[in-house]
Amino acid sequence: MAKHWKTKLIHSDVKVPQGFRSLTVPIYRGSTTLFPDAAAVTDDWDQYEAGYTYGLYGTPTTLELASRICELEQGYRTIITPGGQGAISLIKLALLRAGDHVLVPESIYGPNRKFANDVLRRFGVETSFYSPDIGNGIAEVIQANTRLIWCESPGSITMEVQDVPAIAQAAHRAGVLLVIDNTWSAGVYFDAFAHGADVTMQALTKYVGGHSDLLLGSATTKDKAIYERLGATHQLLGCAASPDDCSLALRGMKTLAVRLEKIEASALSIARWLAERAEVENVLHPALPSCPGHELWKRDFTGSAGVFSIVLKPKFSKQQVYAFVNSLELFKIGHSWGGVTSLAVAYDFTHYKGRPEYQHRIVRLNIGLEEGDDLISDLAQAFDLMKNA
Ligand SMILES: *Cc1c(COP(=O)(O)O)cnc(C)c1O
Repeated sequence: MAKHWKTKLIHSDVKVPQGFRSLTVPIYRGSTTLFPDAAAVTDDWDQYEAGYTYGLYGTPTTLELASRICELEQGYRTIITPGGQGAISLIKLALLRAGDHVLVPESIYGPNRKFANDVLRRFGVETSFYSPDIGNGIAEVIQANTRLIWCESPGSITMEVQDVPAIAQAAHRAGVLLVIDNTWSAGVYFDAFAHGADVTMQALTKYVGGHSDLLLGSATTKDKAIYERLGATHQLLGCAASPDDCSLALRGMKTLAVRLEKIEASALSIARWLAERAEVENVLHPALPSCPGHELWKRDFTGSAGVFSIVLKPKFSKQQVYAFVNSLELFKIGHSWGGVTSLAVAYDFTHYKGRPEYQHRIVRLNIGLEEGDDLISDLAQAFDLMKNA
């Protein structure tokens, strides 16, 4: 058929050489995916079963990332979401219904708490918050309508390590599912499924991305029936992850091991140096005995990440804590972590039920890939300036 040049813009006849073999996963973008014939048209979300039906459910780039996260965490299937918070809301919306009850630790990631108190409550799901050191005691707070127990270990900012196997055992005895936010361990330093989790999630935004330039999340399960509930809800929520971002995350994965190794060593030496400082009351680093749940970390984890907190001595005012953070030069101030840049954020827990004793004196650090000695010098000069503030 002869074609006008304007038609050729859409239906070209050009041929390029085939057989390009690259080391990178191609970025497949696409909403429409083509069907071979009229009868083949379907709208199935499970691309592993149905083949590709629509870009919303993932292109080969998305599925490559999903499969690789699943391989690392040793699950059955992984679903990629547009952020870690997206994975949290997907899991809850997929697994809960009106009348259900959820147990969440006080040390939970803040927006996870808000999702429970704002969105889930509006849809008739109630949440109770438990102390992260509850262990076996979780059995006493499981209600007849409890459907799901959430763990996050270590907790966000306050860093308590949880007895996940004990909580999982109590959960399963009561027929309750256990979900864990495994972001801190990057899905590798804590084997969630071996410790009893039914579903794991990660903010891939953090260590898998690794460069502060993308937002992605993952929800992984070992159970086919749970995967089907997650997938069916994911389809209807309509939250597709960008294949471009998935490509960046796939690149991040290639250097995950070396970044984690360097960050672990650097964070440990900085945490130990901080523990000796007169300004510091406590170092909340799971690999240090001063961290609540340290013994559980030793028992259950195979490594430590680069995020931990310090609590400054009671004599320091909020203005002085701010002065400490503001005086840091290499450490920048900002949300999120797991990138190559060190970060510091001050929190005020005076009115926070979980750990009011930390008051305004808790500062969370993210250790990046700068030279450890330079980061220590930076912290030392900021302590000096804090005292004069
Ligand atoms: C950052 C974070 C999330 C949310 O991830 P986003 O990609 O920022 O939405 C969830 N859980 C934990 C523990 C986190 O640190």
